[in-house]
Amino acid sequence: MAPPLRVLVHGGGIGGLTLAALLARRGHTVEVAEVRDGPDALGVGIIQPSNALHVMREAGLLDACLAAGFAWEVLTIADPAGTVRLDLPQPRMDGAPPANGIPRPALVRLLADAAREAGATLRYGATVDTLADDGTGVDVTLTDGSAGRWDLVVGFDGIGSPLRTRLYGDRHTPEYTGFANWRVTVPRLPGIDGVLMCVFGPAAKALLTPITDELMYLGAVFPEDADYRPDPGTAHEELAKRLAMFTGPVGEAVASVTDPASVVHTRISQVTVEDPWHVGRIVLAGDAAHASTPHLAQGAAMAVEDALVLADALRDEDTVPAALAAWEARRRPRALWVQALSRAVLKQETGTPTTPEEDELLKIGVPGAAHVLVQPY
Ligand SMILES: Cc1cc2nc3c(=O)[nH]c(=O)nc-3n(C[C@H](O)[C@H](O)[C@H](O)COP(=O)(O)OP(=O)(O)OC[C@H]3O[C@@H](n4cnc5c(N)ncnc54)[C@H](O)[C@@H]3O)c2cc1C
Repeated sequence: MAPPLRVLVHGGGIGGLTLAALLARRGHTVEVAEVRDGPDALGVGIIQPSNALHVMREAGLLDACLAAGFAWEVLTIADPAGTVRLDLPQPRMDGAPPANGIPRPALVRLLADAAREAGATLRYGATVDTLADDGTGVDVTLTDGSAGRWDLVVGFDGIGSPLRTRLYGDRHTPEYTGFANWRVTVPRLPGIDGVLMCVFGPAAKALLTPITDELMYLGAVFPEDADYRPDPGTAHEELAKRLAMFTGPVGEAVASVTDPASVVHTRISQVTVEDPWHVGRIVLAGDAAHASTPHLAQGAAMAVEDALVLADALRDEDTVPAALAAWEARRRPRALWVQALSRAVLKQETGTPTTPEEDELLKIGVPGAAHVLVQPY
């Protein structure tokens, strides 16, 4: 279809802003409605694997990501003292480095700047109020009082997706996995030039990921009751207790955490939307459609792949419904494979019993999955 289409993106996170930048650059009229007050994100880091960096290159943002982050090439497996057991060089897609660690706030800011510079309108503190799809367009009013008619509405509104609830009620709600992730940003230690994964049997694993020349983040996953929350005054001590078996770089990183407020505790949940991801001219993408556990570090990578493939489908197909059908046919198998494998890896690493289907999936392993994921998306 020739531009300009009118596209409303609900959710200005990693996927939504990437789509807004891509579509606005291609001449479409784009607005983003984001419920937060500004381009904000959890103050921790994220890994951009090679496929995510490939999308960033297509969006003209690769250099900005690399400048704001820390490019790395090797995932190192080590014992609890940090003694190296295995180095796993990460594969790359054509034209993209193997991986980049980046602070989430920096990534969201650079995506927001790119979308705005390309001509997209970003509405912060705004969310959908009313929405009616009559088959030829979608009439939407936002809570900031603005109103418009759109050719397409895209729900990039995250794992708790209010747009998904509008489409499907409570048929697809996030399912808690029984595990939670602890993350904290600390000064980068000399020698942490790639991801260091220190493993203490099935009981605990801690990762150090460089995100700038100065910073890295420490991440670890533990089984926890659904209603557990760390005490805001002693969260760093709670984390230190859980990681007491680690010495070496992880021990050093833990010891450097003195502010309990710097510890980010996230329950790990997933959502599988078995129903179609698009209904009429409304489509769910990214975590709203297929949020997965973080065990392959691929959730945001899948979201930005969704964005690029959707922008390409809107270019290549004759109608919006045809573009959405083509997009979903291409995205569903890959995103659901990532989701199923990520969940299986979580179970394997934590000693949770796996199903025969998961055992089959796990034969590829995390290193093998990385090679699959650098194939074209
Ligand atoms: C512990 C952990 C570690 C992870 N590490 C990695 C990693 O290393 N690499 C990786 O690729 N992925 C990682 N992920 C996954 C990644 O964070 C997500 O998959 C990714 O952020 C999804 O992008 P998205 O745009 O779909 O959703 P989000 O980035 O969640 O954005 C959704 C946006 O919608 C907005 N929103 C919500 N409700 C409304 C509303 N009513 N109206 C308007 N806007 C709304 C939100 O404020 C938010 O800005 C990790 C996830 C977790 C939990």
